[in-house]
Amino acid sequence: MKTADIRSTFLDYFRSKGHTIVPSSSLVPASDPTLLFTNSGMVQFKNVFLGSEKLSYVRAADVQRCLRAGGKHNDLDSVGYTARHHTFFEMLGNWSFGDYFKRDAIAFAWELLTGVFKLPKDKLWVTVYHTDDEAFDIWNKEVGVPAERIVRIGDNKGAPYASDNFWQMADTGPCGPCTEIFFDHGEEIAGGPPGSPDEDGDRYIEIWNLVFMQFDRAPDGTLSPLPAPCVDTGMGLERLAAVLQHVHSNYEIDLFQHLIKVAAELTSTQDLANKSLRVIADHIRACSFLIVDGVLPSNEGRGYVLRRIIRRALRHGWMLGVRGDFFWKMVKPLVEEMGEAYPELAQKQAFVEDALRTEERRFGETLENGMRLFDAVAANASGSIPGADAFRLYDTYGFPIDLTADIARERGLTVDMDGFEQAMEEQQDRSRKGGKFEAKGLMPAELASQLQPTAFLGYEALTSQGSTV
Ligand code: ATP
Ligand code: MG
Ligand code: MG
Ligand code: MG
Repeated sequence: MKTADIRSTFLDYFRSKGHTIVPSSSLVPASDPTLLFTNSGMVQFKNVFLGSEKLSYVRAADVQRCLRAGGKHNDLDSVGYTARHHTFFEMLGNWSFGDYFKRDAIAFAWELLTGVFKLPKDKLWVTVYHTDDEAFDIWNKEVGVPAERIVRIGDNKGAPYASDNFWQMADTGPCGPCTEIFFDHGEEIAGGPPGSPDEDGDRYIEIWNLVFMQFDRAPDGTLSPLPAPCVDTGMGLERLAAVLQHVHSNYEIDLFQHLIKVAAELTSTQDLANKSLRVIADHIRACSFLIVDGVLPSNEGRGYVLRRIIRRALRHGWMLGVRGDFFWKMVKPLVEEMGEAYPELAQKQAFVEDALRTEERRFGETLENGMRLFDAVAANASGSIPGADAFRLYDTYGFPIDLTADIARERGLTVDMDGFEQAMEEQQDRSRKGGKFEAKGLMPAELASQLQPTAFLGYEALTSQGSTV
């Protein structure tokens, strides 16, 4: 089944169950200062859960474009390393606003997966929140999932991929216990079932998360009940497509194969499974949709996240031997692949190409020299890239610190982050004393606090700030 058919089958199913189909909202949350990007389908409904907004319907479904490259949900560092993570992805979702709750949410999900999409029941595993006996019993006694394939999971203790069955959009706001559905891709793939020590592997892949929204978390961490219990679900389109197309990695689905083929042509790469091609194919989606949604490369906030993703993609092109611009040429195949589902992407094709080409040529001027400096530093480094060198790469060559860290990681090195931050502070002191313009918000740690809605700054944002190239 093609990705496009999966979208429509999902929506048709929930339409037949009385759900109103709503359009995807922007990647830039409309007026939510707690959130950098739309990271899930529920974002546009946050105020409905909280009770401050009323809709004319109590059931909804949609296909939401999401970005997880900053803030609470950040998968940028997993891209290229797992079979299942993207920065940009599409989330299929259905909601109940004070209407149905656990029983129907679980029954709908099971019927769609096993009755409509015909997934084999014995390959599906589920998790429930450790204290949620009600969900456990629905799965076990009503749906018939054997107890040995139902895993009780608690709260994440901070491990990067460790499962966590208490879902939160951000540090504050609507949240609640959840139940997740996993697909077992088979014993030839490394990884254990959810809740086991090697659950981080890619054998058991989470496809759908059903959240039972019951609480609002305040900034001091306390939970208060929502006006009415709600249901919020999210299923990764690309992960479901991988299952339905009998491939293991999201990057092998129809939508990605076309992008990867074009990336291979543009970079003269033979091996279609090359990790850099996957990163480039992932990043062109994130970058193009961010630009469609009004973000442009800049040195702060959302624009800086975009700049970081573009520069990561360009560095992967460089690794494949590209010495000129190529990345903006990926917009056309992306439009061919996704322009029908997202007409705004097709309409803005030329604009997106221009914005990317401008950034590409800008970074192209320093990438080569920066890589030369990195190689020289790495040759002398004993385990760690000194902070002063990371700062020089950043300040003179426009290497965002996470880009330097990513290159270092590939070579088994780390970066002295404290040293980098110290060098940054020293430079800011100098520029303050010298009365120069102070470049603000450049530190990755500060990105999450750069939460003002991004104003549309046009191309001025490309040239107006700081000393970073
Ligand atoms: P994982 O544990 O695999 O990182 P998650 O629990 O963080 O996933 P949720 O926040 O529950 O993900 O999001 C709902 C669904 O969206 C997931 O079940 C998955 O299918 C999909 N999804 C989440 N993150 C990504 C991503 N980075 N790329 C692609 N799909 C994703
Ligand atoms: Mg995750
Ligand atoms: Mg998970
Ligand atoms: Mg989940």
